[in-house]
Amino acid sequence: MDLIDLRSDTVTRPSEAMRAAISAAPVGDDQFGDDPTVNLLQARIADLLGKEAALFLPSGTMANQIALRLYTRPGDDVIVSRQSHAVWHESGAAAANAGVQFTEVGAEGLFTADDVAAAIKAPGHLLYPPTTLVEVENTHNRAGGVIFPTAAATSICAVARGHGIATYLDGARLWNAAGSLGRPIGELAAPFDLVSVALSKGLGAPGGSLIAGSRDDITRAVRYRRMAGGAMRQIGIFAAAGLYALDHNVDRIVDDHANARLIGERLAASPRVRLDLATVQTNILVIGLTNDAPDGPTVVARARERGVLVFAFDPRTIRAVTHLDVDRMACLRAADVLADIVSGAN
Ligand SMILES: *Cc1c(COP(=O)(O)O)cnc(C)c1O
Repeated sequence: MDLIDLRSDTVTRPSEAMRAAISAAPVGDDQFGDDPTVNLLQARIADLLGKEAALFLPSGTMANQIALRLYTRPGDDVIVSRQSHAVWHESGAAAANAGVQFTEVGAEGLFTADDVAAAIKAPGHLLYPPTTLVEVENTHNRAGGVIFPTAAATSICAVARGHGIATYLDGARLWNAAGSLGRPIGELAAPFDLVSVALSKGLGAPGGSLIAGSRDDITRAVRYRRMAGGAMRQIGIFAAAGLYALDHNVDRIVDDHANARLIGERLAASPRVRLDLATVQTNILVIGLTNDAPDGPTVVARARERGVLVFAFDPRTIRAVTHLDVDRMACLRAADVLADIVSGAN
């Protein structure tokens, strides 16, 4: 039985054509600046995001960690959305590496300039830790792939700048946001000092993220990448997959959104599911299970027996993510299986 793997959009495998692009890529030692393929990718990403320079990193987690090193000092306060990746999905790295604390604001992955203004702690206060960075996550993973409103992002960055506070966009799924809005990705990146994007999520490449920002910040980031053990050598192997994905896998990303919508509509019809279809804006479904439904781990185990893989966030929440390795038919089948399981005995 072919598994329908909806645990994440990171589970995709490189296609034959992507593997051919990887195989043909010229490479060199990137620490000497000698890898032509990664140099090309960095230039192309900087251009797409409207920034001066970009830098390849092994992962989005490292991108988030480097953003903290660039703009904060140990003991500083960083404003983030509730349930952000930086707080929940990085094994405590921010505290361990950058030594910062977080202030979570807003609701359902979103917040406003007013939320930021109210949360800012000014430097030089007798008691308070200074706020030195505001981070936005777009789309927001744990809030179900919701898109951060561009107007709010712009006002938030203006407020932050007015206080001398840096701004960072965790754009691991920025192509999903841009695709859904039908806007260029650079427009969503414009208000921020630094932006990260992932090759390994909706774009379907085997690994890698990039950060883009001012030339000064990217130059400083090269050192933090080295300190984090993230400086590699012939990374054109990865960059070639990224370049291939930019040419072939960006426009189709909206298909993933349509497929997520299909699953969402099927499941939201169940009285045992808590899912606000208004939050199903891109490729992520965070599905709440009522008390009369089987719990999350049970749904995950039963779905696996029937060839569908999903991820349990907590005892009453599962997540399903669509991507380029699951087509419409597979998503319809997964929706049937999940709907059947949630309506079964608990
Ligand atoms: C996946 C993800 C990351 C981290 O990416 P990795 O490459 O898995 O380390 C960062 N931010 C968000 C919002 C993500 O979804």
